[in-house]
Amino acid sequence: MADWLQKKGTQKFIKTLGLPLPIPSTLKRQTEVINPENWKGKKILLDGASLGSNLSSILEQNGFATQQGTEPFDALVYDASSIQSIADLKKLYDFFNGNIRKMNRGGRIVILAGMPTDGATLENQSSIEAITGFSRALSKEVGKRGVNVQCLQIENNLAIAHIFPIVHFFLTEPSVYITGQVLQLSSKAVVTENLSLTNSLKGKTALITGGARGIGAETAKVLAREGAKVIVLDIPKAEEDLKTLAASIDGDYIAMDVTDTGVANKVREKCPNGLDILINNAGITRDKTIAKMTEDYWDLVLNVNLKASIQLTDSLLQSGLNEGASIIGLSSISGIAGNVGQTNYSASKAGMIGLMEKAAEIGAAKKITANAIAPGYIETKMTEKLPFFVKEAGRRLSSLAQGGAPQDIAEAIRFFVSPGAKAITAQVIRVCGGSFIGR
Ligand code: NDP
Repeated sequence: MADWLQKKGTQKFIKTLGLPLPIPSTLKRQTEVINPENWKGKKILLDGASLGSNLSSILEQNGFATQQGTEPFDALVYDASSIQSIADLKKLYDFFNGNIRKMNRGGRIVILAGMPTDGATLENQSSIEAITGFSRALSKEVGKRGVNVQCLQIENNLAIAHIFPIVHFFLTEPSVYITGQVLQLSSKAVVTENLSLTNSLKGKTALITGGARGIGAETAKVLAREGAKVIVLDIPKAEEDLKTLAASIDGDYIAMDVTDTGVANKVREKCPNGLDILINNAGITRDKTIAKMTEDYWDLVLNVNLKASIQLTDSLLQSGLNEGASIIGLSSISGIAGNVGQTNYSASKAGMIGLMEKAAEIGAAKKITANAIAPGYIETKMTEKLPFFVKEAGRRLSSLAQGGAPQDIAEAIRFFVSPGAKAITAQVIRVCGGSFIGR
């Protein structure tokens, strides 16, 4: 399962021979409970419009050093929210052309942008959209140094208290495998609750389908680490694994096939005080080109990956999900870009995006958020069985030139279901190392 290009001996050999292979940077991952103390002293250069100055003081309060003249920087944060014209776009050139070389390896870049509005002129709208192209291209340029770039499009008047936790996430280890993303921050589902970075899931109950292994099991551990009570659901065959995992995280389990129509009732029975976090993760592949695909391959993938999630989400939205709950659906870059031999899987994963968008719309009245997480190439049992060259393409055709770990998805899910991420809803968040596949 391990990436052979990550081994030190192999890297030395490749360097000695001068082979033109992309040596991936070693990514520094989150390994323990979230503790802002660990990021004290991180050096950030912050510039641009006024949002930046408000952000500067809250970053300072949280221990980051945002003074000028402290290069090399761990991060660059540029507030591009005042950009409205082609002439304004030059500010991006001026800032990054001058500062990009002053960054440490493994650094972070966050670009804050405005959101297109109804009254925008042709030049306003295209200039705002131009920022997204700039940030995606920048992510591809700096990825080989392990530097990540995100663009956050922020609704006018969104309070800094709701922007800060999201910027914080993108400046720190838990987002290490996310780059080249554009996310919209809005007030649709924000609530004024405790936005503390620590113990953010304390008192919350979470359900994870397909939780016995892979991404689901890793997510269960990470959510429990931050205080959630986690219920893992998987097929009856996986009961022993479920039992062991649930015991290790002081959680609970349901041994049931997710396609079983009794699942929602079972969840309600297990959660008398309601559910706060629903993770639709169970997923399978049955790959064949459409001409060779059997009907049962088609039905199985659509039923497990999509129909079961629709039924569960629908039923729990009607009864079972608490006010302010969070829903996540596991999509895939195959659902965004399509993939040969995966018409069934890609359809199910694109369908998951539609499901999350609609769930966000329905849930907004109860301040429920719903987002799709689209993993890129992640080193799990599911991808282990792929042919060597397919694995290599999955790993190397990304800005960070490597596959991700289940924990990268788990950390992303952990953040996007936390109170600090309430400004993000109806979005697709790719956790793909800046995969060159898809948008
Ligand atoms: P794994 O195969 O490692 O884990 C999936 C889990 O779901 C397994 O425990 C599996 O059980 C369980 N499961 C399968 N069918 C059912 C069912 N009918 N009812 C209940 N549980 C079921 O997959 P990953 O952890 O790699 O993937 C998790 C999710 O992420 C999936 O939705 C996948 O499509 C998505 N994803 C993964 C990527 C990757 O690179 N790994 C990339 C993009 C998306 P068992 O197999 O034992 O039957």
